[in-house]
Amino acid sequence: MFDHSSFDAHEGVHMFHNAASGLRAIVAIHSTARGPAAGGCRMWNYDTGEAMLRDALRLSHGMSYKNAMADIPLGGGKAVIWGNAKTDKSPDLFRAFGRAVESLQGKYITAEDVGIDVADMQIVREETAHVAGLDQGIAASGDPSPITAMGIYLGIRETAKRAFGTDDLNGRTIAVQGVGSVGGHVCEHLAKAGANLIITDIDQVALADVSSRTGARIVAPDEIYDAEADIFSPNALGAIVNEQTLERFRVKAIAGGANNQLIVPEMGELLRRRGILYAPDYVINGGGIINVCAEISGTYSREWVDAKVHTLMETLGEVLDAALETNEPTNHVADRIARQRIGRTD
Ligand code: NAD
Repeated sequence: MFDHSSFDAHEGVHMFHNAASGLRAIVAIHSTARGPAAGGCRMWNYDTGEAMLRDALRLSHGMSYKNAMADIPLGGGKAVIWGNAKTDKSPDLFRAFGRAVESLQGKYITAEDVGIDVADMQIVREETAHVAGLDQGIAASGDPSPITAMGIYLGIRETAKRAFGTDDLNGRTIAVQGVGSVGGHVCEHLAKAGANLIITDIDQVALADVSSRTGARIVAPDEIYDAEADIFSPNALGAIVNEQTLERFRVKAIAGGANNQLIVPEMGELLRRRGILYAPDYVINGGGIINVCAEISGTYSREWVDAKVHTLMETLGEVLDAALETNEPTNHVADRIARQRIGRTD
């Protein structure tokens, strides 16, 4: 573990096995310097236990940075459950997972991530109070996607201000990859601001729906990288900035909600050299965790959430300014600030 390439002085990495329910889970706690470690639970059919461990280590690390940049009193953690989210779920599995979370005595707070929905978390809630992202209860925050999308829209404007000298999106062309929960809302904000949209998705129904509401032009999934646009907004998959796509982008900025957009951190420098201003993903997409934080605090306030999201987007602007001033990749600047905020100065 201590030699693992994704190990970053994690405070704790906990493995859980429950034979009766078939649960195999890892809860990785990267840092509790700012508060209890919060981050969703992912259910995924990993090829190997090693792949599962790597995911837990990397995702929990990412949550520390995201929560620090959002300036919320939460540390970074993540849970992964090994299994097929379509065929391996059962109430017993989630009860066993709930007991695992409970055994950590509040050091880790779970919520939904890929493969996990609100109904699953309601079962987890039967065994532990250390769970968020519920749609029932006094402080329930429900679906975070609209808040995430609002933040991304504001973040696109902050990015445009630096890339084009104005945050006015009227007449700008924006290529949006993925029009699901987040991307669909982002498109609505952008269309309202007068942007011309080029969209893609593998879900034809979602595409037709968003296109009819926003007037967006539809392109095939692979064509989105070649779109002649001002800004590319990825809201579907990770690792979309890679050696293959890098040469294809015809945009001046990349700003969208997908997690882990750079296949490796070095892509940040390569984007900079190509004159593409990159809004670091874990900064621009922090609206959702702010919404979850409001629920964890026990008294959900939409005003508090909105104010925090606005402050986060000011932070994004500061990251972009600092990077432009020093000719550094934006992801380096963001990482440095995040590490300072969690007290890691190495
Ligand atoms: P979602 O599943 O609702 O939407 C994702 C969309 O991407 C779907 O419509 C899907 O069909 C599409 N897609 C999948 N593969 C594609 C491909 N090859 N090409 C084009 N489109 C493809 O998920 P979401 O909640 O909207 O999240 C989108 C991204 O934002 C994810 O990376 C997620 O981790 C990240 N994110 C989401 C939130 C949130 O609040 N939901 C918060 C932070 C980050």
